[in-house]
Amino acid sequence: MLVNMKSIIEDAEKNNYCVGMYTSPSLPFAEAVIAAAEEMNAPVMFGQAQVWDRYGAIDKYGPIMADMARKAKVPVCLHLDHGTSVSYIMKAIKAGYTSVMADYSKLSFKENVENVKKIVEFCHAADVSVEGLCGRMPNVWQLADDPDMDITEFFTDPDELREFVKVTGVDAMTVSFGTVHNMKVSKPMLDFDLLKKLKEVADECNFALVLHGSSGVEDNQIKEAIKYGLRKINVYTRLSIAAQPAMEEAIKASKEPLFFHELLDIAQKAMKEAIKESIKLFSNGYDFSNRTYEEFAQ
Ligand SMILES: [Zn+2]
Repeated sequence: MLVNMKSIIEDAEKNNYCVGMYTSPSLPFAEAVIAAAEEMNAPVMFGQAQVWDRYGAIDKYGPIMADMARKAKVPVCLHLDHGTSVSYIMKAIKAGYTSVMADYSKLSFKENVENVKKIVEFCHAADVSVEGLCGRMPNVWQLADDPDMDITEFFTDPDELREFVKVTGVDAMTVSFGTVHNMKVSKPMLDFDLLKKLKEVADECNFALVLHGSSGVEDNQIKEAIKYGLRKINVYTRLSIAAQPAMEEAIKASKEPLFFHELLDIAQKAMKEAIKESIKLFSNGYDFSNRTYEEFAQ
């Protein structure tokens, strides 16, 4: 069933688990996400990132993904990752998206707040949830250019976070406390003291904390962070790279050239298994197996 982000994060808060947002630039990835969520009987989030539109145009594939979500046996939120313009966010809503991230973090704090506030107004009127980002998230390429970069300069300030949410009314906020975007192998260290302070702000102002850049983080650090009350984690890199070794193995083992649909099938299966592992990791011990979701179907 297709739901917005707010309904999933409220359920996550009530039952103390964390939901995965699996950025799905193409339909085979999206299918793997839905299959994994149904097999785990767990709520899930998926959708396009604005920067990857050329791999799966949102106006073309958004309505198909909304239909996939509607037909799913579990609550599914169709969420836009890093939307950076009103026109693209409108495109997502028109395509059937039920949640958007409004990322104006390249602007000043004041301009970021002003833009996100306007987006929250029209999104909430359409029952679409909104995620914001205050402060900035570094990526691996910035780190490669400047290996001595002090990433603590990017960390979210709890007072700024409180002000941001109070003025904008967002449903969720990406916070920065040690992760880096697109990281495949490094080992970021998370600042749990800061996370504790951020969660206090989240409880006070009633919104969910979101982690981006989780792929390079060790499982035990993720588990620990969820215990502090993270409610949504974005994942792409870790799952997407699961496809390559499975395909390589199949190519090596085959005496004949493989068909494209066979390779795609192998890649999807590997990604689906990785997504299932991720859902289990994020569950924080919550047992989804006997869960029913009638209250979501309204
Ligand atoms: Zn991100």
